[in-house]
Amino acid sequence: MRKNRSRNRIDEKMKMRVGIGYDVHRLVANRKLVLGGVEISYHLGLLGHSDADVLTHAIIDAILGAAALGDIGTHFPDTDARYKDMDSLIFLREVAAKIRQVGYRIKNVDSTVIAQRPKLAPHIPHMRTTLAETLDISVAQIGIKATTSEGLGIVGEGKAIVAQAVACLCDL
Ligand code: MG
Repeated sequence: MRKNRSRNRIDEKMKMRVGIGYDVHRLVANRKLVLGGVEISYHLGLLGHSDADVLTHAIIDAILGAAALGDIGTHFPDTDARYKDMDSLIFLREVAAKIRQVGYRIKNVDSTVIAQRPKLAPHIPHMRTTLAETLDISVAQIGIKATTSEGLGIVGEGKAIVAQAVACLCDL
């Protein structure tokens, strides 16, 4: 009994939580391409109700998921006209505030963007500083990798961009 109690106490003290996020958006003409809050020069952009920043959306879902607070759609529904063409960094900043309200802070975020084109590596440093500033964390706490899908599937055909993220939260 005593042993169980002490174990529970440790669990309470170390509220470490992990969340996963995934998103995909279609690439179309006449839209801006925004990834990780950074506008990237390309002849196509991502289609969506907001700015369709697929990387920021995956990170939002990872953070919300870690706190078991639902997903981006429950907090910012795409049926709400207020969010039309919205800068997704505004959602991200709100989500960071929400998790602080329930007693968590971000330990780290890691992510992967899967895009056949354009080449994303040159933009990653700017994405990291943008996202770190928005989340009020250091650049060292946010990882972004980019890969292609080797020409396979909707990403390989240049029809979509996919992003995946994980977030680790701990007590404030
Ligand atoms: Mg999305």
